[in-house]
Amino acid sequence: MDLSGFPNTEAEFRAQFADDNRCREYLARLKWPEGFRCAHCAGDRAYFLPSKRVVYECAGCGRQVSVIAGTIFEQSKKPLVLWFRALFEITASKQGISAAELQRKLGLGSYQTAWSWLTKIRTAMVRPNRQPLSGEVEIDESYVGGPEPGKPGRAAEDKAIVAAAVEKRGQGCGRVRLGVIANVSADVLTAFVGSHLGDGETAHTDGWRGYAQLGKTGYRHIVSVLSKLDQTAAEVLPRVHLIFSLLKRWILGTHQGSVSLKHLDGYLEEFTFRFNRRRARRITHGAERLLGIAMTTPPCPFWKMVGRLRPQGKARLAVAA
Ligand SMILES: [Zn+2]
Repeated sequence: MDLSGFPNTEAEFRAQFADDNRCREYLARLKWPEGFRCAHCAGDRAYFLPSKRVVYECAGCGRQVSVIAGTIFEQSKKPLVLWFRALFEITASKQGISAAELQRKLGLGSYQTAWSWLTKIRTAMVRPNRQPLSGEVEIDESYVGGPEPGKPGRAAEDKAIVAAAVEKRGQGCGRVRLGVIANVSADVLTAFVGSHLGDGETAHTDGWRGYAQLGKTGYRHIVSVLSKLDQTAAEVLPRVHLIFSLLKRWILGTHQGSVSLKHLDGYLEEFTFRFNRRRARRITHGAERLLGIAMTTPPCPFWKMVGRLRPQGKARLAVAA
């Protein structure tokens, strides 16, 4: 199979990845795109060891190497063909699927397995060294969690605060980035912007003082002060507000309104992955991208990414529409 000839339809996908041998061969080609090369002796020939499922042995020095070492598949004893199916099911549906649905579709024995697969697969939704956002970018934050009586707006505590940045592309949106942030201080917001927006690009925010430093940190900064404009936030920063409303609706719909705060980063990455690929034409596009990311990078713990400071608070969040 040629790498550029990735299947286009569900039927083709099932045919091409019909058994573990074909899945393993595909992974080997992703791992060694120029052909096998032994890291120990630089030998270029290897034998597959059928008794070991995913292991090749170097013909030169006898070293054995697993094709799934250092990937999200590493610890799993389950057939690769099931993992490929999982990647397909998760990316083929527009809204994504819950762990219970994944368990049912794949016939997995336990809910726990389905849940842990979804969690691992979300880590492969983040491509390392992503290109920073460019052009004019709307930035804002929102609480993911029901409104707390008496503590409106930015004063509310014990909730997850999510920051969002989205490119302005004509009347529509370009790419989006989301992150859980610890608070809305200038340090945290400036760090969020710095990790997602390219130097010299334009940040468009409201008048919150946490954004006041942006103009001094190498960005062009457009500030829309709401109280002076007689407009609502949704009118002034329509794209980023659309993102928050889609995000909250997605959590309500696909995940029944309840996500674990501990894993909120993963949900944000899944939302981002879906949103940034919303115009893909092929139903297999997402699975191909996930396989590529999974094989070229070790599983990336969420805490390594920017904005890791988590608010102390409830373990689970109810999400208000
Ligand atoms: Zn060798």
